Amino acid sequence: MIEIQVKPGKCDQHNHICIDTPCPYPGCPNGVLIDDGVPFNAVAKNGFKYPLKRVSWESPTRGEVYAWYELAHDDPHDFLRCGTYRPEAFNVRQPELDNPIIYHYTDQTGLEGILNGSNLWMTDHRHLNDTGEVQFGLQQLQQVLAEFEDTFSSSEDLKKIYDLLSGETIRFSPMYVTCFSNNGDNLTMWRSYADEGKGFAIGLARKTFIGADYLELKGVERGTCVYAPEKQRQIFRTLIQTFLSLKKLFDQQHHASFLPKRQANEFLQECLSSILTMKHHAFACEEEFRMVATLYNQDNVKLRQSHDQQIPYINTQGIFDIMPYPKEGTKFSRGELLFSKPTFFIQEIVVGPNKDSVAMKGWLEEKLIELGLETTCVRQSTIPFNSLKGQRASQ
Ligand SMILES: [Zn+2]
Repeated sequence: MIEIQVKPGKCDQHNHICIDTPCPYPGCPNGVLIDDGVPFNAVAKNGFKYPLKRVSWESPTRGEVYAWYELAHDDPHDFLRCGTYRPEAFNVRQPELDNPIIYHYTDQTGLEGILNGSNLWMTDHRHLNDTGEVQFGLQQLQQVLAEFEDTFSSSEDLKKIYDLLSGETIRFSPMYVTCFSNNGDNLTMWRSYADEGKGFAIGLARKTFIGADYLELKGVERGTCVYAPEKQRQIFRTLIQTFLSLKKLFDQQHHASFLPKRQANEFLQECLSSILTMKHHAFACEEEFRMVATLYNQDNVKLRQSHDQQIPYINTQGIFDIMPYPKEGTKFSRGELLFSKPTFFIQEIVVGPNKDSVAMKGWLEEKLIELGLETTCVRQSTIPFNSLKGQRASQ
């Protein structure tokens, strides 16, 4: 087999982000001069060789997409390497909100925990305040699945996937969620997530969340919640079309009906994380941004008591840190973005609207000084306390 010395790298033009393969697009200066489908041994800088060939598949949002297919590997999950499901879903999503700061609403204990421990808690999605949320995304998925029923019933392995999607698997897969809002002073958020206004909203730089490749590697999904029903269905349609398109590619490569397990898992995972970032349009005013940990170490799961329930959670240690200083001009190198745990600097802390808010601001400033921190990032909610009370009374 031909051997070609390869230079791994990023290609912005083709959105190739893999760290150990060249860009797979034909004719790209960051790529390799080889014809489509011709197998070759890619020789990395360290002498490591891996047999590849260039393949392409039809993406529902990007047209023809090129990728490397590793020939020594039974399960092409690893070697389609340019990202499959996530970019497809992202293209449909096109987040409509992009406030540079996202806010985590919490009560006083939660804030102390974050300031002392530099991390947040992520809750098992099956124990979210509103369990209907998961149900809601699932219903949208079921509707779209029905459109593809004939296709899925055409082969045994497709039928298996169909059963997984329409069954209980998704509902019962544990995943861990933490919520933010694009709005730092939102009445609904104060009421629902910050001890009825007696809590705080911690503002973190959104850009770091979006840009951190490390989070990708850690299986942490994140995105602004989708509230428009047609967009929600379009996301599932796109994911299913992507899956079917890749399935076609695998069948062609293997000259048989072939369903790589990890590839199928990736598809199921993306459906699940899409479900978890969909909400009923009645919640649109929350302007929610969510992070969902899809991979985690079972040993890190802990339990906390809430009313009469034990709620499983993980903390974000190992996923990201929250540091209190809004450091000016902090820049991450490419290596840091890929390999180190990201740090999110607190940009501001908003004190909730409540009758003791002046005292709470004082408490917070003291707490910050005690920790040796600046107090300039503290501001008070501008929502009059009465509107909080008024809403509660009208319930
Ligand atoms: Zn390229």
